[in-house]
Amino acid sequence: MPAQPVPTRVAEHCSQLSRDDKRWLHYALRTGLSGTSPIVADFEATVGRHYEIDHVIAVSSGAAAVTVALCAIAAPRSSEIVVSPTCPICTVLPMLERGLVPVFCDVRKDSFGLCPETLERLISPQTRAIFEVPMWGYPIPLDDTRRIANRHGVPLVLDLAHAHQTQLRGRYLAAYADIACFSTHEGKYISTGEGGFVTTASATLASRARAYTRYGDMDGTSVGINLKLGGLQAALGVARFPLLNEQREKRLENRATLLKRLDNAQLRELPVAQGGVPSGYALLLQTIGHDGRNLVRYQVQGGVPSDIAKYDNRPLYEYELLAPYRRECPNSAALLRSLTTVPIHHEIDAATLSWISAVLNNYQPGAQD
Ligand SMILES: *Cc1c(COP(=O)(O)O)cnc(C)c1O
Repeated sequence: MPAQPVPTRVAEHCSQLSRDDKRWLHYALRTGLSGTSPIVADFEATVGRHYEIDHVIAVSSGAAAVTVALCAIAAPRSSEIVVSPTCPICTVLPMLERGLVPVFCDVRKDSFGLCPETLERLISPQTRAIFEVPMWGYPIPLDDTRRIANRHGVPLVLDLAHAHQTQLRGRYLAAYADIACFSTHEGKYISTGEGGFVTTASATLASRARAYTRYGDMDGTSVGINLKLGGLQAALGVARFPLLNEQREKRLENRATLLKRLDNAQLRELPVAQGGVPSGYALLLQTIGHDGRNLVRYQVQGGVPSDIAKYDNRPLYEYELLAPYRRECPNSAALLRSLTTVPIHHEIDAATLSWISAVLNNYQPGAQD
């Protein structure tokens, strides 16, 4: 028998095809493709059952989900939204687009969750929302943020584009939000090509969110545009949502295998928030005592893609557009500088996992320069 070839690279993303894609696409073709057709309602019901949440509004992208959340909480122009500078610029651009002011709040040490003392200090009479954005599927502590949000009567919005399936104390993170935003873009945990949805337990927020996606219900009493998800995308969502639990198991198995084999004193996994379970969107590794960009460069050259390369390991206020909102956030800067992501999706096989662990174990800071 010929020897198995040794892998030399790994795909960053997996195919998300489902055996049921065609069946549901055909169903959509027969029953209607618009954002108000039955397949979209089916998709919303599927998501609602999965997350055990009353209201789901399917929208055309993750950016649409953030926009709809901002409209549902009725944040007027020039009001403030507290958010960490560790999130992707995609979360903050819809705020700028609506004339809102992002107020950058530092995170806790070695966590993507907001630092409660800093958050408390940054809340002002102009604050209309607190955004938490857990990255790469890692849970964050939410009790302090929830308590502060309640005390000040400010809604807590979670952008869960990275955190489908992430749990805290046995519940999906969406349960901790007043309103939660998701993306189903091709590169995310579940793909409908382009797409997204918002979830909420509040009937009031749900009806405002839904109205905004369809021209304010066209009754001329409120502003809205068209941000509905189309029927073909919804069909893919219906076909693919049932695969999520099984894929999560496989992703978490891959994470466990890599962590068991990881034998390099320069690296560790980002600490997981107490009571939380990551979704396995990616493995987050943290360099100890040196610049993580060394590791990012090393692994990318070695054929193991890092999603963080896209984000350039820097806080958002370093970008030109966001420089006017600069507030120094030392924990955020240090966290981003220390991290890399490693793919652990469900299509990675045992041979590839062994190879990835060998690549990581051979890493020495400085050696590749
Ligand atoms: C990808 C992403 C978005 C934007 O989603 P799109 O579907 O690409 O518009 C928003 N927020 C976060 C945290 C994301 O990762």
